[in-house]
Amino acid sequence: MPEKPEVVTVVKVLQKHIVGKTITDCKVYWDRMIETPSVNNFIEQIKNQTIESIHSRGKWIVITLTKNVLLIHLRMEGKFFFRETTVPRNKHEHVVFTLDQKEEMRFSDVRKFGKMLLLDKTTYTKQEPLLSLGYEYDDPRLTTDYLKERFASRKVPIKTALLDQSIIAGIGNIYDDEILFLSKISPLKEAKQLSKKDCQSIIDNTKLVLEKAIALGGTTIRSYTSEEGVHGRFQNSLLVHGKENASCPVCKSTIIKIKVGGRGTYYCPTCQKLHLRK
Ligand SMILES: [Zn+2]
Repeated sequence: MPEKPEVVTVVKVLQKHIVGKTITDCKVYWDRMIETPSVNNFIEQIKNQTIESIHSRGKWIVITLTKNVLLIHLRMEGKFFFRETTVPRNKHEHVVFTLDQKEEMRFSDVRKFGKMLLLDKTTYTKQEPLLSLGYEYDDPRLTTDYLKERFASRKVPIKTALLDQSIIAGIGNIYDDEILFLSKISPLKEAKQLSKKDCQSIIDNTKLVLEKAIALGGTTIRSYTSEEGVHGRFQNSLLVHGKENASCPVCKSTIIKIKVGGRGTYYCPTCQKLHLRK
């Protein structure tokens, strides 16, 4: 599943391909992918708008158009393909944008979980889904005081709290494990029991892990953009996620896999000891 680094990489690819181009036509083949407005209104409104800029907010891709903003969430497997208009549509290509009447940007999604919303350009940050998003990993407002306060009422494991997009936006299951490993915090530790020092480690390691992954182009980027041949190299740099039974790169203990909040979680039981507070 794409996390912040993958989304940032897709944004970079899209910036190169589509900024300045005009959406001259749009076809929707899976209605439920369009969350708002109605499919007919979505198509009518988006036509003839020019793509001005693209950025990301959490795991959302934010495409600023002439009048509206198009929000796209890749969810599990959403990706874009650029095709000539003459190339037959593949059955997994559910939303097709024609650009400058000559090429198509196709949103492909085998699982059909991807979401798109067309919102008002002047108010979209003040409404969902962006309204309730927490800070970005590089937002200066992401401080230990902020995290302590947000974790204070959380009786869930820290692994689960880090997946909560309303606290820090952009962390998913893979980088969550990596951040906790580098922070030497058990994924099972209750969020509200984290010390100020723990919170600082999480802030520092979130930056470290995400920036490194962004620099390397995301973990599995080949799945998320049309640029066949663009490989994510970060997967080679993962320390614990997906490494069940491998030895810990720090202490040589065996990495184990457990379920936390229903999510597969990898950690080193020696480096990430659970110190229970009485
Ligand atoms: Zn270890």
